[in-house]
Amino acid sequence: MKIYNSLTDKLEEFKPIEEGKIKMYVCGPTVYNYVHIGNMRPAITFDMVYNYFKYLGYDVKYASNFTDVNPKIINAAKELGITEREVADKFIEAYLNDLKSFNCGEIDYRPRVINHMEDIYNFITKLIEKDMAYVVDGDVYFRVSKVKDYGMLSNQDIEELRSGARVEVDEKKESPLDFALWRRTEDGEQFESPWGMGIPGWHTECVVMINSIFGSKIDIHGGGVDLKFPHHENEIAQSVALNDNYLANYWMHNGHINLDGEKMSKSLGNFILAKDFIKEHDANTVKLALFKTHYRLPLNFTDEVFKEAKVLDEKIYNALKQANLVIQVNSLNVGELKEDKKINEIMDEDFNTPNLITYLIDLIKDLNVALRNNSNIEEIYDKIMLVNQILGLKYDLYVMSEEDKELYSKWLDYRKNKDFNKADELRTILAERNIL
Ligand SMILES: [Zn+2]
Repeated sequence: MKIYNSLTDKLEEFKPIEEGKIKMYVCGPTVYNYVHIGNMRPAITFDMVYNYFKYLGYDVKYASNFTDVNPKIINAAKELGITEREVADKFIEAYLNDLKSFNCGEIDYRPRVINHMEDIYNFITKLIEKDMAYVVDGDVYFRVSKVKDYGMLSNQDIEELRSGARVEVDEKKESPLDFALWRRTEDGEQFESPWGMGIPGWHTECVVMINSIFGSKIDIHGGGVDLKFPHHENEIAQSVALNDNYLANYWMHNGHINLDGEKMSKSLGNFILAKDFIKEHDANTVKLALFKTHYRLPLNFTDEVFKEAKVLDEKIYNALKQANLVIQVNSLNVGELKEDKKINEIMDEDFNTPNLITYLIDLIKDLNVALRNNSNIEEIYDKIMLVNQILGLKYDLYVMSEEDKELYSKWLDYRKNKDFNKADELRTILAERNIL
């Protein structure tokens, strides 16, 4: 399959480090507040990526972190009048609830920085020993000038970056591009280290968690496009310095979300919280709306997009509901199909979900025809279920009891014999049970 690699800006054939296995890491939220709907895009996108790899039969391990040691958390603790740990716990729980309400599946690892402090000290110490980092007055900085290819991911020229950056008056860096691996602090939550009391830098936290969980290199590193610089660029720089690799073979970035044409961001005050959004729109609708745009492209959130997605969601549900009924009444064999070549053909092109949705729409049409003709229902139903499994779409389909089945076949008989009064009575009962 082909994946667009942000590192090389090319569509590349995907080859895992170890055959049949995939190690994947996606930057998770800084847990100081409720996340907005823009933050859900990477969660939903990489949930789909994870599902597709599993569909392909890979043994895939997926980690996404909580940034729970961060100056933003220290500020939130002050504002809320609780401890930093209480802030982190509160918003980790809130985020996990968001994931659940958006029907994102379980993943393999959800590391927290707080559990990797020892690894962070060791990591920074090694960088200092290699002369890739230096200590100034309790801060530790990374020496960007010693890394070749800096700026490779974000396609920025190091000289241009340097002239654009400036050293703040209170900073003690050798060069404006150097970034903090450890920062001295006397304010809020702080940790003891060989360099004094302080907290680790965000860019270091992610690399350390990746190295701790997976080792020095992974297959896929993902995140939102706004993390390319400086966050991901600086993750790569540290990995080049210490392990002589780009941390991941494939870097994947999802596009951002615009709200009525403007970029959604907390700092712009232009955002909708995920927990509020899901009250108005269910998870399937949100996913169908999101996946209609390729993950790399920016996505414009408008009422129109969601109205369309809602209509499609209802069409899918109605067809599946009807098929589910016929399948159960006739004891048709479903769930046998494990692969549909057409799905592979579409998704092997860098997870082309817009085309997968077009295919899904065709399958729904086919299913409706199959239901009318009473033929080939199982195969089409199975194909739809495979698409749903990859996109993370969930439909509550009724499981009929023996009594339900009897009522249903009686209803069919009454209709056949044109006994409409009795048929109507049964119809009401079946509708109440959400069978019809
Ligand atoms: Zn990260």
